[in-house]
Amino acid sequence: MNIPAKPDPLVNNWARPFWDGTREEKLLIQKCSDCEQYIFYPRMACPHCFSENIEWVEASGKGTIYAFTVVESNAPSPFLEDMPYVIAVIILEEGVRMLSNIVDCNPDDLQCDQSVEVTFEKMNDEFTLPKFKPVKV
Ligand SMILES: [Zn+2]
Repeated sequence: MNIPAKPDPLVNNWARPFWDGTREEKLLIQKCSDCEQYIFYPRMACPHCFSENIEWVEASGKGTIYAFTVVESNAPSPFLEDMPYVIAVIILEEGVRMLSNIVDCNPDDLQCDQSVEVTFEKMNDEFTLPKFKPVKV
């Protein structure tokens, strides 16, 4: 069976700085310069006050697991070799939510509200993916 390669992320012009940041192992998110709220996913205007006065800032990379699922079966796809893998919604310290994977863990040991921190996984010369791993205590 011919399994295609993993797809690159789809990138629009206003998300480009996010991917430029991850390539340098920096987790960048937007912040509104008018209402000072953090913003993720990348947008052209602030979803809170509709200002277009938005800057990019580096997030701490720390957060907690809001929700997660463990993928243990899958149709033939480029992700088969990763199973079991964890898909999670992470709440960053800055308050925004990010969908990613939890890696470097035993999926059976994960819990909601658990502390995690960002780690970077290079896909190719253009894309590095931000993933999260449990904070060792
Ligand atoms: Zn705003």
